[in-house]
Amino acid sequence: MLFAVGEIMLDHDVIIIGGGLAGCRAAVEIARTDPSLNVAVVAKTHPIRSHSVAAQGGIAATLKNVDSTDTWEAHAFDTVKGSDYLADQDAVAILAQEAPDVVIDLEHMGVLFSRLPDGRIAQRAFGGHSHNRTCYAADKTGHAILHELVNNLRRYGVQIYQEWYVMRLILEEGEVKGVVMYHILDGQIEIVRAKAVMFATGGYGRVYNTTSNDFASTGDGLAMTAMAGLPLQDMEFVQFHPTGLYPVGVLISEAVRGEGAYLINSQGDRFMANYAPSRMELAPRDITSRAITYEIRAGRGINNDGSAGGSFVYLDLRHMGEEKIMSRVPFCWEEAHRLVGVDAVTQPIPVRPTIHYCMGGIPVNTDGRVRSSDSGLVEGFFAAGESACVSVHGANRLGSNSLLECVVYGKRTGAAIAHYVQNRKLPTVEEQRYIQEAKAEIQTLLDQSGELRIHHLRQAFQDTMTQDCGVFRTEAVLQEGQERLHNLQQQYSQIYLDDKGKDWNTEIIEALELRSLMVVGRMIITSALNRRESRGAHFREDYPDRDDGNFLKHTLTYYSPSGIDIQNRPVAITMFEPQERKY
Ligand SMILES: Cc1cc2nc3c(=O)[nH]c(=O)nc-3n(C[C@H](O)[C@H](O)[C@H](O)COP(=O)(O)OP(=O)(O)OC[C@H]3O[C@@H](n4cnc5c(N)ncnc54)[C@H](O)[C@@H]3O)c2cc1C
Repeated sequence: MLFAVGEIMLDHDVIIIGGGLAGCRAAVEIARTDPSLNVAVVAKTHPIRSHSVAAQGGIAATLKNVDSTDTWEAHAFDTVKGSDYLADQDAVAILAQEAPDVVIDLEHMGVLFSRLPDGRIAQRAFGGHSHNRTCYAADKTGHAILHELVNNLRRYGVQIYQEWYVMRLILEEGEVKGVVMYHILDGQIEIVRAKAVMFATGGYGRVYNTTSNDFASTGDGLAMTAMAGLPLQDMEFVQFHPTGLYPVGVLISEAVRGEGAYLINSQGDRFMANYAPSRMELAPRDITSRAITYEIRAGRGINNDGSAGGSFVYLDLRHMGEEKIMSRVPFCWEEAHRLVGVDAVTQPIPVRPTIHYCMGGIPVNTDGRVRSSDSGLVEGFFAAGESACVSVHGANRLGSNSLLECVVYGKRTGAAIAHYVQNRKLPTVEEQRYIQEAKAEIQTLLDQSGELRIHHLRQAFQDTMTQDCGVFRTEAVLQEGQERLHNLQQQYSQIYLDDKGKDWNTEIIEALELRSLMVVGRMIITSALNRRESRGAHFREDYPDRDDGNFLKHTLTYYSPSGIDIQNRPVAITMFEPQERKY
């Protein structure tokens, strides 16, 4: 008998799933707003191992320390233009206006930002930003911020459940009442009941086979939301970061180009002159990723015979000099040296696009309330950070705007939750029913007698996503991919687990994560098929132009195992009329 003892219902005023920047910032805000509230954060990792810790390049804010001509309106315009006009402009205005205050607040919490000689916070250039506005801590910005936020959680007495895997959202009749969670340590299952549940579960890079994301970025929160019958928004927009280290795919931060590095092809040309002459290497990521892919297709990549893992281009830092490389981007130097043996002071770094970020997610309003439809809201349910879609990034995110989103909208959502729960009672939950269903689900996984290894099925799924739903997309390839993904998902019942025990059974977690990947992947490809235009990161070779007449709208996707239903939401255009996007 796997679960003999110890299932009890846990009650909290607020339960936050996710110990990254968004979840931690929200928890701090709730504790600051009303210290009497009982707040808990759950994470399947240790909070400081959330993917936020890996963020390198920085966080955008118009502090005007380097460029006094910068304005929040310019930041908002760059963001909307970068989004290919799909971002909701009311949400972008909040992002840009609140940015300086949240960065100063982080500094007051103790975050050690890099400095100008006069002691003010330094700011560097970043892709798609018209001014030097990205604040940073060398190339370890996420590390610097997340550690301070987690320290603050402890200071405010927030309860942390670490290495608990949340496997189900409890949603009944339009109201979220809690979650079901599984203790990785010993297989214990708990029902957590709360007046408000917040998802800050991060991205889904692992849906693809090469990504800059950590192993935990499997889109669980998105999948649980979709499986509960709620919509996801704009899932077709997947960001490829131009400079994944070849061949492993880990990130070489955009900060390296922000500090002056060049992209060169096999002929030694700075090819960005042909794609974005005014911004060169600092064009937005969608444009730069496509440029690299075009160069490789045109035979100007390195290793162009496709042997040993395919082709790449070079990121050249040599002209920057050792002192600058080692003081501004030391971690990127170290990555290239440790992982592929390249000394970036004397050799160019091999790079090619890698999956990096999901622009889509759980649709929310500017208070972080989750939407049930174009016009409705779910009671008791909030989301922020990469798992949410508010939408400030639209069809393409600018670098250094995501940490900012996590902090601005984590804070706002925390404040909204603190007020929301004041007049709410703890909901009633049929505890035994949810425990029995969760146990049955785990037991089914353990009892399955198929012949498929988890990693084989996962690999097949990730390869299909990469081949059929990549930088360039067409109807025929997407359709084939959609069918293949559906068939692969049906093989889920044929996976088998070697480990039948309850202590640290990582196979159970891998199986549950695979379930999430499959739901999310199918939603991405279906949304991509539906959008017959090219906008931001979504490039359809059969529809290469943006089509505002038919597609200047958000996609809402509803999941069921048999099929996916698509609806739309209007885009909020409050400041900038859509224009042609040139750099
Ligand atoms: C290598 C890299 C570098 C980056 N650099 C930058 C940068 O310089 N600037 C910038 O703006 N953006 C950057 N980004 C993007 C940015 O870091 C992320 O978008 C952001 O940190 C996401 O934060 P989050 O709080 O939403 O989620 P995450 O930090 O991903 O945290 C997710 C949390 O949810 C938990 N979780 C997930 N599923 C479950 C579950 N089922 N049960 C329990 N817990 C669960 C995880 O354990 C984790 O604690 C970078 C991203 C990468 C990958």
